[in-house]
Amino acid sequence: MAAVPIEIDDSLVREFRRIVGDAGCIDSSGDLAPFLAEQRGFYCSQAPLVLLPATTAEVAAVVSLCARHGIGIVPQGGNTGLVGGAVARSAPRAPQVVVAMRRMAAIRELDPDNYTITAEAGCVLAALQAAAADADRFFPLSLASEGSCQLGGNLSTNAGGTNVLRFGTARELVLGLEVVLPDGRVFDGLRALRKDNTGYDLKQLFVGAEGTLGLITAATCKLFPRPRGVASALVAVADPAAAIALHSRARLALGDELIAFELAGRQALDFVLRFLPGARDPLGHQAPWYVLLEIATARDQATAEEDLEAFLGAALDSGLVTDGVAAHSSAQRDQLWALRHAMSDAQKVGGASIKNDISVPVSRVADFLSQAGAAVEALAPGTRVVAFGHVGDGNLHFNLTQPEGMEPGAFLDLWNPLTAAVNAVATALGGSFSAEHGIGLLKVAQLRRYRGGVELELMRTIKRALDPAGIMNPGKVLGD
Ligand SMILES: Cc1cc2nc3c(=O)[nH]c(=O)nc-3n(C[C@H](O)[C@H](O)[C@H](O)COP(=O)(O)OP(=O)(O)OC[C@H]3O[C@@H](n4cnc5c(N)ncnc54)[C@H](O)[C@@H]3O)c2cc1C
Repeated sequence: MAAVPIEIDDSLVREFRRIVGDAGCIDSSGDLAPFLAEQRGFYCSQAPLVLLPATTAEVAAVVSLCARHGIGIVPQGGNTGLVGGAVARSAPRAPQVVVAMRRMAAIRELDPDNYTITAEAGCVLAALQAAAADADRFFPLSLASEGSCQLGGNLSTNAGGTNVLRFGTARELVLGLEVVLPDGRVFDGLRALRKDNTGYDLKQLFVGAEGTLGLITAATCKLFPRPRGVASALVAVADPAAAIALHSRARLALGDELIAFELAGRQALDFVLRFLPGARDPLGHQAPWYVLLEIATARDQATAEEDLEAFLGAALDSGLVTDGVAAHSSAQRDQLWALRHAMSDAQKVGGASIKNDISVPVSRVADFLSQAGAAVEALAPGTRVVAFGHVGDGNLHFNLTQPEGMEPGAFLDLWNPLTAAVNAVATALGGSFSAEHGIGLLKVAQLRRYRGGVELELMRTIKRALDPAGIMNPGKVLGD
């Protein structure tokens, strides 16, 4: 059950309302609900007020007022995050308000010759991609949540997604930021420059900070030429080692044309076939592992398809790939990606699940899968491993579904030992316990465990320097 919120004085509520207007202030319990729960239902909390500012000046005034009265600020974008970062904490030490950015969704400028776009933090990722495409440009950040997540949330989580292999994470796509600092001042770093060696790169402090250092209000991001040809295929491979060998070869043969390389085990596809209406087994028979790969080229569609077919033909001849299907239309391409994008949600057909978001060097992926699989089996025999992810980045969602017939609660009781076992394997292989989802509330203890010592102390020093009163997203990332 959610804790009772610490109320905010009526006179202060009136001051907030004066800043953001009636349209930007929600304080009735019914309307508050969608802003208070994380979508998966893991975190459900209370806050007496949700504010929806419409300009940077309004954000700055809201933050100043919070700073003067010691009120915690919980920034919220599309609320698609998976670690409890965008919801108010239950049982807080001080009152908190949620500041949701959806009314700041404008594209301020698109400069086609500079290959840049400047947009406000509340701009939905899909809208940003569409604006770029309308100008014959390409914004490569792409996630299954792109219809709801927002640019500010993407930058604050340093989002990854399916095209990191070629274009990098959100961090590598940002050139400039506008941020309201925890004391209400505005850091105007909205420069659209690819070269700017003028001291510390301050904008990068706020990327991946999950709203704990300031509130991002706008960003200038890189654009790329819109590809003329995009070709995709789903292929079967015998095991993860074959997938990694295929990845190495694809990078050599296709160079920068290779933009996505995703791996999925059969269990992940099995759940999707039960979950997604109309889904069909893409190869007509079962394979143990699948790779979904995509190339994009400045040349035409026919050339893209020829390049991919030539590469896959050679891989088939050498036995690295055992079967495959190529998309010959954008509808077929969408069908292949729909299978991949449904994998996380589809897991619910199997019962209770425990999800992990790890990364290891690409060359260690096969070791990780065999060692982590053995560790899980030893702790909870019969657990179904649902492994899939952006394997071209060494990132796997190594998700676990309860053994058939087990009580869901009994499986979830094993959350800590199972997660610790998976993280121990990833860490021993030089990996990370959180590849792209961040820390939020969910992984605070793990951050302390795996990033202790000098690294954690440096993070705390930065937090104290920027937010000495600790009002920005209290309790997230570093804990209290
Ligand atoms: C189906 C699905 C698929 C996903 N796939 C991927 C994936 O492939 N790769 C990936 O990286 N993630 C993925 N995610 C996770 C999530 O979509 C990303 O983390 C996304 O970047 C979050 O954006 P958001 O706008 O929803 O942010 P929110 O969830 O609202 O917030 C996330 C964090 O950022 C902070 N924040 C939000 N806006 C601001 C702002 N303007 N200023 C400062 N702080 C802010 C919040 O306080 C919170 O800590 C997926 C999620 C779902 C549901």
